[in-house]
Amino acid sequence: MSKLVVVGTVAFDAIETPFGKTDKILGGAATFIGLSASHFNTEIGLVSVVGGDFPQEYLDMLTSRGMNIDGIEVVKEGKTFFWSGKYHNDMNTRDTLVTELNVLADFNPVVPESFRDAEVVMLGNLHPAVQLGVMEQTPAAKLIVLDTMNFWMDSALDLLHQVIAKVDVITINDEEARQLSGEYSLVAAARKIHAMGPKYVVIKKGEHGALLFHEEHMFFAPALPLEKVFDPTGAGDTFAGGFAGFLAASGDYSFENMKRAIIYGSNFASFAVEKFGTERMQTITNEQIDARLEQFKALTKFEINN
Ligand code: AMP
Repeated sequence: MSKLVVVGTVAFDAIETPFGKTDKILGGAATFIGLSASHFNTEIGLVSVVGGDFPQEYLDMLTSRGMNIDGIEVVKEGKTFFWSGKYHNDMNTRDTLVTELNVLADFNPVVPESFRDAEVVMLGNLHPAVQLGVMEQTPAAKLIVLDTMNFWMDSALDLLHQVIAKVDVITINDEEARQLSGEYSLVAAARKIHAMGPKYVVIKKGEHGALLFHEEHMFFAPALPLEKVFDPTGAGDTFAGGFAGFLAASGDYSFENMKRAIIYGSNFASFAVEKFGTERMQTITNEQIDARLEQFKALTKFEINN
């Protein structure tokens, strides 16, 4: 079986949407990525850090989904990364209210020995220095996928550029693609980001789907129009997890296969937003995933005789 290393935050989130508000619940980029990728036939090694305040039951839940958590360091005297956000009425935009790095501030990632030969590495959202550290420990990687966000562009841009130069795929949302490239047009932005290193650029556009760019080729995956979006938190990470998990399991990293991968990413993201936090991702079944895949196909399939 192939191996997928996932690095990212394992966190507490407090979320406010027009539909309600949560106290500290389970969140974090690596959590969403892992839950999503766990639906594919690949061994997942999570690399992250939590504090002594992190409940054992959350760690047990990750293990019960087949994830290897040997790479999650527990700093007993420290506090877990905490993020809080509030969504606007359109549910597409949000304000970050709090980002407390806590144990993430001095985290030195250690990839477990058994995962150092991983074929695929998913660099989830966290400090680019940590992402670099993980790349150094996974020299056999054939595919490295990077996700990041404006927080790191604002606070560690030089290091982030070093990471971007080394990865094969970058997934980024539209606003962040514009910030990183200085271009408004997403086609122009993708071209500039290509020139920074990644051969494949995936631009996520929330409820408007995702675009995949590779040289002069382009592919569009819609997001499934949903009657009720409850909480978009983690949709981007869930998307990235589906994308990387599918590619890791198939071992085919071609543009054609990446098209399928972004459909899987969109499929999983459409579930993630149906409940607060990771709740929905903990309960989806393979039957539900397959049924939704049919909806995705029907959404854009048409015939025209002319
Ligand atoms: P998304 O909605 O896909 O952007 O992901 C939201 C998740 O990212 C939440 O569960 C947060 O815990 C996590 N998160 C928020 N800010 C950061 C950050 N600066 N670095 C890493 N993870 C973050």
